[in-house]
Amino acid sequence: MRARGLALEVTALVVIALLPAFADLVRGSTSRCAQDGVAVDSNYAVYARYEGDVELEFCGVSCADLWMRRSGKPAIAVEVTDCVDGHRFAARNAHFVKIYVDWRESVPDPIRVFASREEALAHIREFGGELLVGPRRPLGTASDLRWDRASGDR
Ligand SMILES: [Zn+2]
Repeated sequence: MRARGLALEVTALVVIALLPAFADLVRGSTSRCAQDGVAVDSNYAVYARYEGDVELEFCGVSCADLWMRRSGKPAIAVEVTDCVDGHRFAARNAHFVKIYVDWRESVPDPIRVFASREEALAHIREFGGELLVGPRRPLGTASDLRWDRASGDR
């Protein structure tokens, strides 16, 4: 009887411990942003790969940029997600558009990512915003992205 009670307690603890994972499974997300712990929406995800086959995932460009600047750790490669079709590609080839709408209500980040410059400019014409270039470009300028070139991923 005593062992049965212990087994029930252990089972209850295991169920309680698994609740967050179950909630993520129900919501369709199993990963959390390395910067702020927010659930990562794969449509806006940013991925930074480091030595030792470590990959950090971020909820958006702003969080990834903040984390990388604060950590000072160069990634081997940084990839972003195209907001048009959701494909993943090298950040050095991305066009970043800062939007002016109240982004918090609909998307996790005020910076949209486009693989196509034409689509980025069309988005700005239709919805407003600005193309982030030069020192305002997130995830490093082209010369800062030496870790992307080092990976041979050109
Ligand atoms: Zn985040």
